Amino acid sequence: MQPRSTEAATEIGRGAGAGATLRLPRVIGHRGAAAAAPENTLAGIRKAKELGASWIEFDVKLTSDGEPILFHDDRLERTTDGRGAVAATALAAIRRLDAGGWFGAAFRGEPVPTFEEALGVCAELGLGINVEIKPCRGREAETAAVAVATLLRLWPKDLPSPLIASFAPECLRVARELAPEMPRGYLADRLSRNWRDLMARHDCASLHLNRRWLGVRQRTAVTAAGIPLVLYTENDGTRARRHLESGVTSVITDRLDRVLAALTAAPDASGAVVRLR
Ligand code: MG
Repeated sequence: MQPRSTEAATEIGRGAGAGATLRLPRVIGHRGAAAAAPENTLAGIRKAKELGASWIEFDVKLTSDGEPILFHDDRLERTTDGRGAVAATALAAIRRLDAGGWFGAAFRGEPVPTFEEALGVCAELGLGINVEIKPCRGREAETAAVAVATLLRLWPKDLPSPLIASFAPECLRVARELAPEMPRGYLADRLSRNWRDLMARHDCASLHLNRRWLGVRQRTAVTAAGIPLVLYTENDGTRARRHLESGVTSVITDRLDRVLAALTAAPDASGAVVRLR
């Protein structure tokens, strides 16, 4: 038997216009390929492709001068050689920082990418993108507006639509307003009581949850409702395979090597292909 592709498992349509679908993969590289290259860098995006990813996730936030960059934390210290708040630092200063040396000598000099650069590399490599809008506090609407406008301007129309996700409801609201056709994912740490209402409010196509807090009951509630469920961050290959076997749509992982290997070794690991709405 041919091993099933590690590509696509689920198509989602909500928020993508009548009849439109988006094909989600089973595996999504977290912040690029976070265990193999510095997170949220162009080197990380290329590494994800090299490791066999078809999709990646990354974080977008704004510099002090309103430029969208790939960055996770509110502060510069952990992933660059700079200091201070991202929201208080201009793009020119951020561009002088080293965002790779902290991870390993081989990545020294790797810059913080602009969102535009990252989109260019993803499009060139044919990678699908789960864009997490990660605003600094108080900049939710602005960050979403800039991120979505950039996607509308630059993401090639002949490639699968990006999947936008955010923990910030205000970002989802703005994204829906500016690009109703671009699917949105509701990102949460745990399943709340009113998760259906929250998803409906922003017309979200998928639900993204922390795998740590997801019990069987919660998982079943989501999958039985036919909602594509994306779990983060699963770095164990066997567990990732089990999630997918039990109805989870996609897993986001730092360890593309392990997770893709576990799926290749178990070609029947995929849940059924589900067309939703
Ligand atoms: Mg993220």
